[in-house]
Amino acid sequence: MSGRVLVVGLGPGPDHWRTPEVADALDAATDLVGYGPYVDRCPERPGQVRHGSDNRVELDRARLALDLARAGRTVAVVSGGDPGVFAMAAAIMEALDADPSARDLDVSVLPGISAMQAAAARLGAPLGHDFCAISLSDNLKPWPLVVRRLTAAAEGDFVIALYNPASKARPTRIFEAFDLLRTLKAGDTPVAFARAVGRPDERILLATLRDADPAVVDMATCVIVGSSESRFIARPGGARPWLYTPRSAPFSPSSGEAG
Ligand code: SAH
Repeated sequence: MSGRVLVVGLGPGPDHWRTPEVADALDAATDLVGYGPYVDRCPERPGQVRHGSDNRVELDRARLALDLARAGRTVAVVSGGDPGVFAMAAAIMEALDADPSARDLDVSVLPGISAMQAAAARLGAPLGHDFCAISLSDNLKPWPLVVRRLTAAAEGDFVIALYNPASKARPTRIFEAFDLLRTLKAGDTPVAFARAVGRPDERILLATLRDADPAVVDMATCVIVGSSESRFIARPGGARPWLYTPRSAPFSPSSGEAG
């Protein structure tokens, strides 16, 4: 019998943010393949084989999944959030691209809620108008490319969702990113640090670009930097203000420039 590869997104944390389709795929899988902490978030099933690995070997993991499927197994490849956003779906596609003999395998990608969507829901509607997502990790791309994209995103006045803002190996990149954005965007641009959204240790911090302290980020943080239209709405009783980006934006040639 030929096997299957189900590339699934676990969502940002809690089980109730996991789609029923993904829960069914995890039930049906004979094998789980993924970064150890994500595999650990999947329910234990008798007889299921769990292949946890560290987070630097995405392509090896993808090849392992294809090999297991070729041997007739039903393999769930697990990512946090959505599998198509800085995650395993692209690694599986890369493995298929490199290996024509694997292309007749039955491969499906099952979506999940991405961190920026979960963060946006907590905050209000910061992604309500045009936005982009940029990973600050330079494991798989050179830092000058990150700088180019941050610059273009600021000049295009996009709301920017920053993934992978820091790690032990790269603690300073978020400071460099903020230093750059401060030269390109107004000081009162809203910023949100959304950490571990949906998990017990969730923490949301709001600031302006001028005052934001990037030292608060860690690998569980998604950072949202507003456009020139993004704004806070004060709430009574000490509640955290809403953050939103209106759905209409007047054209102004200076939008996105420091002011
Ligand atoms: N595929 C994932 C992203 C993987 S990259 C997705 O779609 O969400 C890992 C980065 O995602 C982290 O460094 C962090 O920036 C972000 N992230 C993942 N889970 C998060 C959560 N619960 N809260 C905030 N950010 C999160």
